[in-house]
Amino acid sequence: MTSTLEMPKDIENDAETFIKFESSKEHYKAEACIVWCYDARFADLYNDFILERGFSESKIDAVKGAGGAQALAGESGADRDVARSQIAKSIKLHHTERVILMVHMDCGGYGGSKAFNDDRQGEWDHHGAELRKATAFVQSEFPEIKEIECWLADFDGARRI
Ligand SMILES: [Zn+2]
Repeated sequence: MTSTLEMPKDIENDAETFIKFESSKEHYKAEACIVWCYDARFADLYNDFILERGFSESKIDAVKGAGGAQALAGESGADRDVARSQIAKSIKLHHTERVILMVHMDCGGYGGSKAFNDDRQGEWDHHGAELRKATAFVQSEFPEIKEIECWLADFDGARRI
């Protein structure tokens, strides 16, 4: 572990590492709040998804957590509370009107494809049902959301369902 609990007194000059980057100070209206699994195998797909959909990367609120929309499909609990709260803040801070829900094949959150005995249709059907449950939850919690999209990601791309 390289980090210490001691913070530099003069952050401008004493930080251990400085990466120079100009970030926009402008506030924005989010084009979407995207609930996506943090599985890094789908990180490049996420970036491509943003481009293909014509979104601006700097106007997306990304809620990345294990399982993606799984958190919103499940029963009440800590995962659902966190995901719900993130969407609520996206709406409050960035006036979000669109939520995009994603689950993916071979997701560790569901025990991977092996939990479905590698039955692709079975896994697909299950995930479709999860997306419907997550959609119903988001609809009931956030009536101000105008559009909810459901996406199933796979190793050859993403399909809107
Ligand atoms: Zn996953």
